[in-house]
Amino acid sequence: MGEADTDDSRQPRPAHTTRRLELVRSRISLGCPYAWELGIATPEDKRRCRLCDEQNGHKLEHYLSGCECVNTLREKCNISNPTLPDLAKHFLNTLKETLSGHPIFCDIDK
Ligand SMILES: [Zn+2]
Repeated sequence: MGEADTDDSRQPRPAHTTRRLELVRSRISLGCPYAWELGIATPEDKRRCRLCDEQNGHKLEHYLSGCECVNTLREKCNISNPTLPDLAKHFLNTLKETLSGHPIFCDIDK
């Protein structure tokens, strides 16, 4: 599969960006649940969406298909009524853009 990885040197690039991008990419590709979803004791505030603060919103399904903070980016998916896997693919394809606007989208922190 070809990757459209345009290395735009005009964009400022913090050192951690590439690693974070890779980690979020893996999390979405593998469908990794967060610790609290597996029943591992997690404080209530750590289960909230990192973007919109929705209770129990810190999970892939919410980030990909529910979180209103990324509505504009989600609407760029050119599939009508996209399924969760469609949205996962969409966000994988646009991950760099998504993370530059929302650095804690699908936060890698448990
Ligand atoms: Zn949210």
